[in-house]
Amino acid sequence: MKILVVNCGSSSLKYQLINMENESLLAKGLVERIGIEGSVLTHKPEGKDKVVIEHPMKDHKDAIKLVLDALTDKNHGVISDMSEISAVGHRVVHGGEKYSSSILIDDDIMKVLEECSRLAPLHNPPNLIGINACKALMPNTPMVAVFDTAFHQSMPDYAYMYALPYELYEKYGIRRYGFHGTSHRYVSKIAAEQLGKDIKDCKIITCHLGNGASVAAVLNGKSVDTSMGFTPLEGLVMGTRCGDIDPAIVTFLQDEANLSSKEVNNVMNKKSGVLGLSGVSSDFRDVEDAAAKGNKKAKLALDVFYYRVKKYIGAYAAAMGGVDAIVFTAGLGENSPEARYETCKGLEFLGVKIDEEKNKVRGKLTEVSTADSKVKVYLIPTNEELMIARDTMDIVRK
Ligand code: AMP
Repeated sequence: MKILVVNCGSSSLKYQLINMENESLLAKGLVERIGIEGSVLTHKPEGKDKVVIEHPMKDHKDAIKLVLDALTDKNHGVISDMSEISAVGHRVVHGGEKYSSSILIDDDIMKVLEECSRLAPLHNPPNLIGINACKALMPNTPMVAVFDTAFHQSMPDYAYMYALPYELYEKYGIRRYGFHGTSHRYVSKIAAEQLGKDIKDCKIITCHLGNGASVAAVLNGKSVDTSMGFTPLEGLVMGTRCGDIDPAIVTFLQDEANLSSKEVNNVMNKKSGVLGLSGVSSDFRDVEDAAAKGNKKAKLALDVFYYRVKKYIGAYAAAMGGVDAIVFTAGLGENSPEARYETCKGLEFLGVKIDEEKNKVRGKLTEVSTADSKVKVYLIPTNEELMIARDTMDIVRK
C-alpha cells in the first residue's frame, strides 16, 4: 500500500509518498509560492537527485496536479499511475474537541473541520483547501485527517481549563488544546520501546524543540498536559513566538503603546521569541553562533529559552509523579547538543545525568544520558509524516 501524506500551508505544500510494505520513503517534496508569482515545486525521488520545476500555480489544485504529475513522471516519477496511491493522509492542525484520533474524511467531517477553522484561522483553512484539491483530482481515493490536537484530547479537565469564566469555555471553546500531537505521540512510543517497557507503564516528557516548540507530559501512553494552549503561542519561547507571558501585557501594550489587537498579536507571534530577545535571528543556529562570539543578547535569548524548557520538565515531572524518560526532538532538539545539555543541567536532583560524549550527536536515535542516570534522556528524530501514513493505512484498512 502506498500512501501520500500532504501538509498544506497557505502558500505552500509539503508531501511524502510512503510505501507502507516496509515504511520506506519513495519521494518527497515541497511546493512554494502557490498563487504567487514564481511558484516552484522541488521534488526529490528517493535515491535520485532532486528536480526543481518552476511552473505557474494559481491555487492548491494546480499544485497537487503538479505533484501527481511529478510522482508519475517517466524520468523522475516513482509510480506509473496515480491509482497506485491507495489513500491520502492530510495533516490538519485543529480538530477542536471533536476528534481525539484520526478520521476518514467525508462530507459531514468536512463541515466539522470548517467549524474548527474558527479556532485556527491561519492553519485550518489551507489544510481544508488541500483536502478539497486532492478530492477534486482523486475523487475515488480515501482521504484521512490526522490532527495536531488529537493526541492531547486525553488531558484531564484540570489541565486543559483556564481559570476564566466557565461560560467562555462553553461559548467560545476557550481551553488548552495543545499542538504537535503527532510528533509527541510518535516519539513517546519510540521512547517506551527504548526503555523496554509497555508504554502503559511509562512516564515520558517529550520536548519538541523546533521553530515552534512544545513540551508534553505523556503518562501511560496518554498526553496529560502540554505547553501549547488555546493557540500555538503559549508555553515555550520559540523562534519568533513569546510563549508564556503575563496576559496583562497585552492590554498594557494596547493602552500604553497604542498598538491594535492585530499589532500586539503580530509582536507576540512574529517579533518575539529568540528573535525578539537576541535581535539576531529566529534560527537557533544563528543565535548559538552569535552567543558563542560573545553577543550578550543572543546568550540571554538562549538562557531564557533553556530555562523555560527546564521549568516545564520540572512541572511535568510533578504532574506525573516522576519521570522515566525525557525525549528531545525536532530541528533544535535533534541537532543541538548544547540545547539538550543546557536544558538538563541542574536536573540532577530528578535523576537526570547527561553523558557529554554521547550527547555530541545530531539527528539520530541516541540515548544521551549516562548509564547510571535514573531518568533516561533520548534524542529521537520525529517523523510526523510516517505517523500520518500509519494512521491513514490503519483507518483505510478498517
Ligand atoms: P523545525 O521547526 O523542527 O524544522 O526546526 C527548525 C529549527 O531547528 C531552526 O530554527 C534551527 O534553529 C534549528 N536547528 C536546525 N539544525 C540545527 C543545528 N544544527 N543546530 C542548532 N539548531 C538547529
